[in-house]
Amino acid sequence: MNPACLFCRIIAGELPSTVVHETATTFAFRDLHPQARTHILIVPRVHFTDAVDLAKGQPELLTDITLAAGEIAEQEGLAEPGYRLVFNTGRDAGQTVFHVHMHLLGGEQLGHFGA
Ligand code: 5GP
Ligand code: ZN
Repeated sequence: MNPACLFCRIIAGELPSTVVHETATTFAFRDLHPQARTHILIVPRVHFTDAVDLAKGQPELLTDITLAAGEIAEQEGLAEPGYRLVFNTGRDAGQTVFHVHMHLLGGEQLGHFGA
């Protein structure tokens, strides 16, 4: 728990969020400013800065958040139409919260990269 970290405080229940899924190691909640009809953030409960930091420190948690994403996609009816999983990593990618989080985006036709 990093008391200066927004997402650590959300996970601890100190700040409110709309929780959609929880496991022993993961936590998932709706994005406050959705960029698609469905926009959910999936995080490990422990604090790592970004996806590479997580892969170096506790790689099994990358699997855990990915499996959580799959379960949430089923729960939200997105498994068949499909969805997007994204890690913004660093400033140029627009990362604003430095507690690693996987974005799950879907519920509509998403624009294709490079199109
Ligand atoms: P990033 O830009 O770091 O990849 O993603 C951070 C995400 O967190 C953004 O999509 C932003 O809308 C979301 N966000 C920022 N503050 C809050 C908050 O207090 N609650 C929730 N649920 N989402 C937040
Ligand atoms: Zn944190």
